[in-house]
Amino acid sequence: MNFEPSQKSRDVLARVQQFMRDEVEPIEAKHWEEVRALNPDGDWKKWKVGPRVEALKAKAKAAGLWNLFLPDPALGAGLSVLEYAPIAEWTGRSLMAPELFNCNAPDTGNMEVLFRYGSEAQKKRWLEPLLAGSIRSVFCMTEPDVASSDATNMQATAVVHGNEVVLNGRKWWSSGIGDPRAQVAIFMGRTANESGGRHAQHSMVLVPLDAKGVTVKRMLPVFGDYDAPHGHGEVWFEDVRLPLDAFIAGPGRGFEIAQGRLGPGRIHHCMRCIGAAEKTLELMIDRASSREAFGKPLVNLGGNRERIAEARVAIDQARLLTLHAAWKLDEVGALGAMTEISAIKVVAPRMLQAIVDDAIQLHGGAGMSHDTPLTGFFAQARALRLADGPDEVHMGLIAKLELGKRGR
Ligand SMILES: Cc1cc2nc3c(=O)[nH]c(=O)nc-3n(C[C@H](O)[C@H](O)[C@H](O)COP(=O)(O)OP(=O)(O)OC[C@H]3O[C@@H](n4cnc5c(N)ncnc54)[C@H](O)[C@@H]3O)c2cc1C
Repeated sequence: MNFEPSQKSRDVLARVQQFMRDEVEPIEAKHWEEVRALNPDGDWKKWKVGPRVEALKAKAKAAGLWNLFLPDPALGAGLSVLEYAPIAEWTGRSLMAPELFNCNAPDTGNMEVLFRYGSEAQKKRWLEPLLAGSIRSVFCMTEPDVASSDATNMQATAVVHGNEVVLNGRKWWSSGIGDPRAQVAIFMGRTANESGGRHAQHSMVLVPLDAKGVTVKRMLPVFGDYDAPHGHGEVWFEDVRLPLDAFIAGPGRGFEIAQGRLGPGRIHHCMRCIGAAEKTLELMIDRASSREAFGKPLVNLGGNRERIAEARVAIDQARLLTLHAAWKLDEVGALGAMTEISAIKVVAPRMLQAIVDDAIQLHGGAGMSHDTPLTGFFAQARALRLADGPDEVHMGLIAKLELGKRGR
């Protein structure tokens, strides 16, 4: 077991850090101010991307800091999951940075799906512009009408009729659907397959968002914030008819693809949580050292030093666990690293949520405002305890695997 970053990983990380120091940190607060001014919550159809984003993406791309998550050296940076992990951590310190390097969810997961399972025509039509950063994408699995943490509950359908596949169903929490650059969704639905088992009944289908029958019904706020211009929508698919080549890898392969999609993506999410937690700890220390109450800096009051120490311990624990999961994923693949991936998916967002909560407390009222990224980090951590599988589902899986080791 060796978590020491390779020379290549260190080189890319150093350049990402430089880019963040020079290009992102000086403008980030201004960027979010501009985004909020451009996108008053009400009408998502008028949402616009912040005016600095495309120019910064072009700069990052020109510097070779692009598609860093993709292990393929021809299309991405050629970094393993373990090599990319410290870079994901660093980008996680900022809520705007992942997109600048074309390393943002859900595009990264969708690109991985297309890269691994897409046909040549699908790659040409969708993967190429996604890799170029000229369009964005959405992943539609969760449904309002059923408990979607159990994916076998899914009701939406992808049924073959002659030379077409017909989609019907309601999805929600479709992240990124508000972005004016979003052009395609990966839709997951049931395709009855009598000869197949429980996990061969679902398909993934590529849906152009302008296809007839696709309607965004509303945007869902997270703690009152619509997360414009990204957004999380409720989307209805009503008799959407597409040619059969819209299936990814063919009918019935949805579960198999979903397994592959989520492994590296979970590592990326968790490393970004760790970066966000490091940034939070810095903010907490700076704030608590620079304000006084009752004749002392806040940091010297009550249990505040312990809060800082506990944050350090929790961050380092989560990082070690996540690097271990990344290492194992590289060594044996997602199926062999299920315990480790589920473990970090529980640990890292909980860790971030707890540290941000302490940091908000130490910031007083400022912690609840938009003057710091703390509320954004809190929403990120809280949402991640549900998205890509709620904590309890991951714990259930870990327990099942542990019981299995004892033959139970
Ligand atoms: C901000 C945000 C963004 C999201 N983005 C996307 C996206 O882009 N695409 C997408 O498809 N979905 C997305 N989701 C949806 C997310 O993946 C689902 O909310 C999640 O899978 C849970 O499904 P559910 O909401 O139907 O909860 P349910 O399945 O109804 O579960 C509710 C609760 O029941 C409990 N529970 C469930 N199973 C068990 C168990 N085995 N043991 C004990 N307790 C259990 C848990 O406490 C769980 O939280 C997003 C969600 C959020 C909040």
